[in-house]
Amino acid sequence: MADLPLLENIGNVYKRMSHAAMRAGRNPEDIKLIAVTKTVDIVRITQAVDAGLRIFGESRVQESQKKISHFAFRIPNCKIEWHLIGHLQKNKAKTAIELFDMIQSIDSLELAETLNKHAEKMGKTQRILLQVKLSDETTKHGILKENLISLIRQVIKLKNLDLRGLMTIPPYFENPENARPYFRELRELRDNINELRVTGYALRELSMGMTNDFEVAIEEGATMVRIGTAIFGERE
Ligand SMILES: *Cc1c(COP(=O)(O)O)cnc(C)c1O
Repeated sequence: MADLPLLENIGNVYKRMSHAAMRAGRNPEDIKLIAVTKTVDIVRITQAVDAGLRIFGESRVQESQKKISHFAFRIPNCKIEWHLIGHLQKNKAKTAIELFDMIQSIDSLELAETLNKHAEKMGKTQRILLQVKLSDETTKHGILKENLISLIRQVIKLKNLDLRGLMTIPPYFENPENARPYFRELRELRDNINELRVTGYALRELSMGMTNDFEVAIEEGATMVRIGTAIFGERE
């Protein structure tokens, strides 16, 4: 059964995404909603699938394993996508390749090379984003922007990785307007990489914006927003 508050939450999120897109003169269909299901159980995720959500984000390989295998063959012709959005340790790289449609949190060449090796063995082309660290918070992972272009030049040589764009997590601000410069900076980095033709094709994706700041992120060009609390409620 679909859950009413959940349906209402999802409807509100889509409405707010749409309005933010239109304020910025963008097509709302160009922005994907990634429903973040860390700490959310299989029953709730099933309700979210029933409500029409198809892309889910998980932070930890371990926690996501059971959930992803639960949904793997359950619903024929209903393709559910799983994105890894949390820090990935090299010793979990093989499992991550097995589980995830996209890995958004690549933050080093070593990790990219390890993932590429496992992807090659499995005959998979793994979609990835590079996580960029734009603030100086020591708790956050990510590539420094100074090192981004040289890392991209290395990563695009890895044949079993398919680099689609960039991801960032700005610091938390009570007032989401304060996150705007970080979102703008990520977009400018992507545009600059495309203008310099670093990859030989255009990077499209900008994964940025969470419950507190997704509208600002969309105004600044987000193509994926990662939203947990506004859909599933406060985490414990
Ligand atoms: C938890 C998490 C989110 C979702 O956060 P909410 O504020 O609950 O929307 C988005 N991105 C990442 C990387 C996360 O870890």
